Amino acid sequence: MINDSIKDNIKEVYDKINAECERNTRPFESVKLIAVSKTKPVSLLQEAYDAGMRDFGENKVQEILEKYDKLPSDIRWHMIGHLQTNKVKYIIDKVCLIHSVDSVKLATEINKQAEKNNLVMDILIEINIGNEESKFGVSIKEAPEVVAQISKLSNVRIKGLMTVAPFTENPEENRKYFKQMKQLVVDIISYLSDNSINDVSLDELSMGMTGDYVVAVSEGATYVRVGTGIFGARNYNI
Ligand SMILES: *Cc1c(COP(=O)(O)O)cnc(C)c1O
Repeated sequence: MINDSIKDNIKEVYDKINAECERNTRPFESVKLIAVSKTKPVSLLQEAYDAGMRDFGENKVQEILEKYDKLPSDIRWHMIGHLQTNKVKYIIDKVCLIHSVDSVKLATEINKQAEKNNLVMDILIEINIGNEESKFGVSIKEAPEVVAQISKLSNVRIKGLMTVAPFTENPEENRKYFKQMKQLVVDIISYLSDNSINDVSLDELSMGMTGDYVVAVSEGATYVRVGTGIFGARNYNI
């Protein structure tokens, strides 16, 4: 992997996505690939950009701010990591989609900052689908009411759900979680409808990483977030 060029890696990921779309008779444009560039230097992001990549995912506010000015302005930045309310103001005008909204409190702050900046922020609600202690996200049980509450905010637009599935060597083990995500969309929509909320559609499903994105695509992912599979292994000690 380390000697492969980023361009080849991107092509390989797209080939696998497209093959899986074909198998499931999904149009391949229905899956958007996000290059997860956390910990990677700007030079490698530029390489991915030159290979055609425009969607980049980062999990730290500070890192987005450091990279933002050094790279082309038509990049779509995705915030995919845990977001503290006091940092929303730094990225509100820089990211296209916040995947990791895990509380009404955070959504309320995003709404406030979006209003200040005269924009409507697209968000996803993060679900802790594996019910893991170590993970952020709303539980399946809480999700319908959380979405209902957030849907009342006028400067955020809920586009769908996101999850980080449990780590596993065997991606097939995560198929059940991806299926649960799809079912949860149906259940939330029905809950909203019961509460006369009809202006929310949850079309986007952000799920699948390097280890399991093919399975996620076959279960309906519309965003896959691939880091290692594009940029190689991360070194957190540099
Ligand atoms: C790091 C990260 C990814 C990418 O992980 P890889 O296994 O390297 O593809 C995807 N989503 C989130 C939320 C991440 O933090």
